[in-house]
Amino acid sequence: MAQTMKVRKGDVVHVLRGKDAGKEGRVVEALPKQGRVVVENINVVKRHRRPRAIQNTTGMGGAAMTPGGIIDLPAPLPVSNVMVVCPVCGKPTRVGTVEKTIKDKTVRVRVCKRCGEEIDRT
Ligand SMILES: [Zn+2]
Repeated sequence: MAQTMKVRKGDVVHVLRGKDAGKEGRVVEALPKQGRVVVENINVVKRHRRPRAIQNTTGMGGAAMTPGGIIDLPAPLPVSNVMVVCPVCGKPTRVGTVEKTIKDKTVRVRVCKRCGEEIDRT
């Protein structure tokens, strides 16, 4: 089911569910195919990396090692767990779309269901 996401990269979203519920963050990546978004500092998982020898094609010389340790990685979360924060009224809102004609071209713009203002600043 190809569903268009109402959330886009750069949007500020309010997290509804999960361990970071109630927090807000900026979308750093939108993954429409998975219906997920990656949000800055939200749903951060600690990835434990073990130092590991890199397989090199030369087969000669000392083994190169990747540094081990723990890294913080924001994991994608389902888009249904977040709400877009309207940049106009500053509140989490549902997003609607309206058709608008600009220079004889019909475009869809996203609007805030709360205040009715356009969210996309283009
Ligand atoms: Zn609004």
